[in-house]
Amino acid sequence: MIHVGIGYDVHQLVAGRKLILGGVEIPHSRGLDGHSDADVLMHAICDAVLGALGEEDIGHFFPNTDPRWKGAASRIFLEEAARHVAMRGGRIVNIDATLVAQEPKIYGHIAAMKENLGKALGMDSKAVGVKATTNERMGFLGRAEGMAAMAVAAVDW
Ligand code: MG
Repeated sequence: MIHVGIGYDVHQLVAGRKLILGGVEIPHSRGLDGHSDADVLMHAICDAVLGALGEEDIGHFFPNTDPRWKGAASRIFLEEAARHVAMRGGRIVNIDATLVAQEPKIYGHIAAMKENLGKALGMDSKAVGVKATTNERMGFLGRAEGMAAMAVAAVDW
């Protein structure tokens, strides 16, 4: 049966950090703050996959108090979520995600993000949707104080 999951994440933009989105390092004056590489897109997708399994969230599996995950590539979190799917004998049918980022321009990086996401999840990147939008300069996202991502996952198990 198909089960769907939803994920949402937000991280603050700060100076002195690399900007990593969907496993792609994007040249920018600031990066997302967090314990791991703070890849907000991967985190939202991870929670969507875990949610489709009825599992606990990314913070449960990878607590930000655990030094093992300090500076960790978030690809590891997706690989672990995919491992949980496999343990159920399941299959990720598709992923769809939206990144909310006022700046920089994201569009040119989306193909590389999809490829990274497909690889990390062990699925065809054609079944991974990634879109980006600004927040029309409104609110904390619109002032580029941070970035948010939301995602859904359909998992057959
Ligand atoms: Mg996060």
